[in-house]
Amino acid sequence: MTISLETAASTNASSVVSSHFINGEWTDAGGPTFPVHNPLNGELVGEAAAGGSAEARAAVEAAAAAFPAWANLAPGARQLLFLKAADIVERRTEELVELMAVEGGASRAFSSFQIRLSAAMLRQAAGWGYLPAGDVLRSDVPGRTATVTRKPLGVVAGFTPWNGAFYLAWRTFLLPMAFGNTTVIKPSELAPRSAGLVHAEILEEAGFPAGTFNVVTHAPGEAPAISDVFFESPAVRCINFTGSDRTARILGAQAGRALKRMVLELGGFNPVLILDDADVEESIRAVTFGAFLHQGQVCMNSRKVYVHSSLHDEFVAGLKARVETLKIGDPRDPAVIIGPLINDGAVEQIAARVQDALDRGAALVTGGTADGRLYPPTILSHVPADAICSTGADETFGPLLVIEAFDDAEEAFRASQNTPFGLSASIMTRNRARGLDLAARFDTGIIHINAPTMASEASLPVGGVKDSGWGRSGYYAIEDFTEVRLTTVSRE
Ligand code: NAD
Repeated sequence: MTISLETAASTNASSVVSSHFINGEWTDAGGPTFPVHNPLNGELVGEAAAGGSAEARAAVEAAAAAFPAWANLAPGARQLLFLKAADIVERRTEELVELMAVEGGASRAFSSFQIRLSAAMLRQAAGWGYLPAGDVLRSDVPGRTATVTRKPLGVVAGFTPWNGAFYLAWRTFLLPMAFGNTTVIKPSELAPRSAGLVHAEILEEAGFPAGTFNVVTHAPGEAPAISDVFFESPAVRCINFTGSDRTARILGAQAGRALKRMVLELGGFNPVLILDDADVEESIRAVTFGAFLHQGQVCMNSRKVYVHSSLHDEFVAGLKARVETLKIGDPRDPAVIIGPLINDGAVEQIAARVQDALDRGAALVTGGTADGRLYPPTILSHVPADAICSTGADETFGPLLVIEAFDDAEEAFRASQNTPFGLSASIMTRNRARGLDLAARFDTGIIHINAPTMASEASLPVGGVKDSGWGRSGYYAIEDFTEVRLTTVSRE
């Protein structure tokens, strides 16, 4: 059990002291901890165990020991566990909404979205054990039969981010586990419960066997003590990372030295092209959701809109009016859509990029002034191509959207591709054939026609190309978390 302490905080938020979860036990109670603060007001909302290499080693050993039995568990037994976990997620909805608000600044709309996606993903993954495990192939050698079988890898070590933490941590745990791997998760130090520990509580209650999932937390700045163990351990066969391209480059260099398989789910630039035949109202809805859900702190948020000049003024006026109705404040208020940014660094990044664009001559359509960590949805137009927020060279991670008018759709398309990222993109058009034709040429992992760049479903394969990483969620994760075993039998 996690040890819970109610604090005498001025709000009703509870402060939880969390241990590591290793081999089916909450360990290290009473050991060193680090504080976790509410991004809105700095209130203490919890403490988590400050672990290091010893805990990481114990977790990897537990996962390795649990692997053979888990890999061979009957599909029906595994299915029941996943279905139970989905029910527990739904039962705990209210408490999870509160947790995501106080640890990560998530609005009720965003946390409910994550809870729905998580339960759906658990229920879908529950059935994967019954899908065919391989194929029989033909051989040119007379009398030889050849079969290929999908085998789990072994221990998969996962890194989870603080943003969209609840859903993304499920993705990190359950996709490898559904294919027979065991896991060790290292959650973000900014949101350790919503990025991993609460999942351990749910999986424990559902009855998953000891050692199949383990969670080790660490104080800020101490992540390498844990991740070094992952790279050094022969039992760890895959590193499953969701986070920034900056961190991925550090870990990727380690993976190269250790020759470890790596799955990378990284950031994006996520352009939207609004063609001259688009529905303006629908485009306004798609961009409001796509750019500003979770204060623009999601990998698939739209960062730049290219809009045909014939629609530009109507679109900008409508978008400005719509985003100015979004209530900003404490995300525990169900009416609030825009909560706080995660920390002061995030506010500084957005403020500096807005200032950089204004200094170069951009026009501010709306927003642009922070109130503490509350930063309003901010829209810039007439942004020079060399402004940092407009180049697409570096991920902007907050509520800042750039709008650019175009006359030539082909030029706008080419400009939208001039970024090292390739995660998601949207095309708004009433002409389906035209949309599909353009979509085929996008260099992204995801392209939506007439939907936000953020459009997501648990069953659909999310993932990027180029600097947005590689790997896919949904059932396509079988490519990432299994390997193909060839067995041949020849005549004696
Ligand atoms: P981050 O890269 O700072 O952290 C991600 C994880 O890496 C955390 O667990 C963190 O503790 C760990 N980490 C950081 N530095 C490390 C180091 N030197 N050694 C070992 N571990 C280290 O990312 P973040 O700020 O938590 O998350 C936001 C980023 O994640 C954004 O770039 C966003 O676009 C991206 N993201 C991508 C997806 C996707 O599916 N493509 C989803 C969510 C977030």
